[in-house]
Amino acid sequence: MKEKFLGVDVSSYSYEELKQHILNDIEKKKQSFIVAINPEKILQAQKDAGLLMLLNKATYQIPDGVGVLLASKLYGGDISRRVTGIDMVMTLCEQAAALDKSVFLYGAKPGIADKAKDSLVEKFPGLKVAGVLDGYEKDQDYIIDTINEAKPDILFVALGSPKQEHWIVDNMDKLDVRIFQGVGGSFDVISG
Ligand code: UDP
Repeated sequence: MKEKFLGVDVSSYSYEELKQHILNDIEKKKQSFIVAINPEKILQAQKDAGLLMLLNKATYQIPDGVGVLLASKLYGGDISRRVTGIDMVMTLCEQAAALDKSVFLYGAKPGIADKAKDSLVEKFPGLKVAGVLDGYEKDQDYIIDTINEAKPDILFVALGSPKQEHWIVDNMDKLDVRIFQGVGGSFDVISG
């Protein structure tokens, strides 16, 4: 279920429905890709056809930004709750801890993903963090191998937008991972 704003798809699932779809994808071993959509990205995509295609390629475009909610209301749509990238990270970590699934944190400056890991494990006891990798590692083969060896169910990618979306689309096929989420500066926020 999607609504379109200036050509950009945004998921109109309720938060509960979205969560259920993502958990089903993990169970069915289906790969999905989550991207947060805000008005800035919609405007950027007007000038960048490649970015527009990339955003619409995602499985779930979460409505991150009140501007998206207002536009939906204006056009008689159903999107009524803002879901930020961090909300989604927290929900997925909570579910992962409850369902014995693992997460991997890739991105941000050296040391940040490690601190974010500590903070997430403290908040969600029992959360399995299969690995962390900073976002300035240059060796792509090493990055792919490290993630594949860790075999996470969920991979959070914090390289900033649209770099992280390009990276996800370019590498999904090579990775033994179910859920990919581009999370921007989330690790910086979570690490405190
Ligand atoms: N980053 C990275 N590698 C890069 C470029 C950026 O790991 O090559 C990280 C950066 O350290 C920061 C995040 O990506 O943690 C970008 O955060 P920002 O808030 O700028 O992203 P946005 O949410 O605006 O897309």
